[in-house]
Amino acid sequence: MNERDLVVELLKTIPTRRCCDACLSRRTGIRPPRQVNQLCRRLVELGKLVREKGKCPLGNHTRVLNALTARRSTRTKSAVSPGSAGLGIEEAWRYVDRFCRALWNTHLDTGSPASLAEAITALRDEQIVPAHEANMMHTIRSLRNMVVHEDVDFGDHETAIARAAWEIIRAWGERDERALWRATMTMCAGHA
Ligand SMILES: [Zn+2]
Repeated sequence: MNERDLVVELLKTIPTRRCCDACLSRRTGIRPPRQVNQLCRRLVELGKLVREKGKCPLGNHTRVLNALTARRSTRTKSAVSPGSAGLGIEEAWRYVDRFCRALWNTHLDTGSPASLAEAITALRDEQIVPAHEANMMHTIRSLRNMVVHEDVDFGDHETAIARAAWEIIRAWGERDERALWRATMTMCAGHA
């Protein structure tokens, strides 16, 4: 873990997810405090922190605090019952991944896909999944990848897109591939 990650991880352990440079330096062991200050300014540029004056929860003093920017990921990662409003992007992605592998194993007789992207595209090309539903699968895959690999904040708009895409896939799955859909759902529910 590099020093930047260390700062972020430490802030996550504080209930209000904020504290001043001096307390961060003391808690992380990153010295001198000026070094922490530079790291935090860089994190502000990266959009991970905001710096604003306030009362430091660790030191009972009022200073410029480093505050983690709000993320919705903890809420959207809550348990999903497929089709409910509690859909989380990670669960939706895992579910689509398993469903596509099940479709692949059932309908295609050619090894296994190298990636979910490849599976979705092949299933569409073979007209196993209609183009529209395949696009919705790609939507969930892309949203999830942006969250995981690009660290994009998952806000209300992204949640709305993911849920709508999910409902389109679900409607098709329930209608045309009910056995596989439900088998995969059961598997994921057991996993969660
Ligand atoms: Zn402090």
